[in-house]
Amino acid sequence: MYRIGQEEIDAVTRVINSKELFRINDKGREVENFEKEFERKLGIEYSLALSGGGTSALIAALVGLEIGPGDEVLVPSYTFVSTAIAVLAVGAIPVIVEIDDSLTICTIDMEKKISPYTKAVIPVHMRGFPCNMERIEELAKLYNLRIIEDVCQAVGGSFRGERLGTIGDAGAFSFNQYKIISSGEGGAMVTSLKEVYERALIYHDVGSGFREFSNRLKTPIFAGVQYRASEIMGAILREQLKRLDGILEDLRNIKKRIMNELSTESDINFIKSYDDDGDCGTTVGLLFLNEECARKFASSKGVNGWLPIDTGKHVYTGWQTILEKRGSHHPLMNPYKRPENQNLNMSYSKEMCPQTLDILSRTVLLVIHPDLNEEDVTLLIKSCREAAKQLIKL
Ligand SMILES: *Cc1c(COP(=O)(O)O)cnc(C)c1O
Repeated sequence: MYRIGQEEIDAVTRVINSKELFRINDKGREVENFEKEFERKLGIEYSLALSGGGTSALIAALVGLEIGPGDEVLVPSYTFVSTAIAVLAVGAIPVIVEIDDSLTICTIDMEKKISPYTKAVIPVHMRGFPCNMERIEELAKLYNLRIIEDVCQAVGGSFRGERLGTIGDAGAFSFNQYKIISSGEGGAMVTSLKEVYERALIYHDVGSGFREFSNRLKTPIFAGVQYRASEIMGAILREQLKRLDGILEDLRNIKKRIMNELSTESDINFIKSYDDDGDCGTTVGLLFLNEECARKFASSKGVNGWLPIDTGKHVYTGWQTILEKRGSHHPLMNPYKRPENQNLNMSYSKEMCPQTLDILSRTVLLVIHPDLNEEDVTLLIKSCREAAKQLIKL
């Protein structure tokens, strides 16, 4: 949560005073307006707010694209586990792909892992770093894959001027506590494809068949779940969306200053970026020769860095349910046990992505807050310079 205040309080008060907290009644307009405003911000035809977070947005996108048993979906080795679990939720098998030194999906390994069963890829714009969408789109065309962008950590970012989430067939956003804009929990799926939107819409409301909108759909109603967003969530997100440009501008300015001033240090190397201007600015990534240097730098006085290899949730080696193939609550629904999936690539091991483990153990992340003042940033830069000097002695 970067910024929240009186505007959100007033918006929630407005909803409570209206006594309309349910989006489905024709009276409430907060979620509907948020969706319209989000579409306008991103420049895309359809968006669907969801109460189940980025995870539900990923699942709704997979449902929208008719992905299921018999399909492999490529996911990167460095992402929150929910990217892979969303694939299992629709009965398909996640195939884990290396990252490169941008900390996003490695398109060389991605091509190697494409099989006749591969139906889609989920590039994840981790920590607001844009993926190599140009190459991913080329490969998708070549091998007939669908693209679902995981934009959970990159709301508002872009790749060559196009907003992240609008480049692939669908995009999945999260608004949980830790994302760039937040309503505590919640998410949204976006797409420019009408059929994908209709299927996601049907899926996200178990009562779809009883809704007024069902008469306008081309797709026959099928059984879904309950991910409807509340008017309170919609009201908060409308205010958060107004803050987005300011948050991004401040994050980017701070990141640019840090990078400019550290670029003269010969011992400091930045991770690769596929789009410096589209990067969200939440994080500066530094790449060192080895883990020892990275650890020494990260723990130096005033640096407050950390190594992505140490996050329990975001590296594939920590995804127990995947590695041990416990893919469902019921054995007959476990995608790893389904007959349709028996020829698919589901051989996992902790050693399967050595390039990822090497890169993540040599990387240091510096996390930026948009409200850091100039003095804080000056001090951080000074601490990084000092830390770099100490490395020469190693
Ligand atoms: C946060 C996150 C998710 C899941 O979002 P929730 O809102 O917690 O469901 C998925 N992918 C990535 C990369 C995330 O960071």
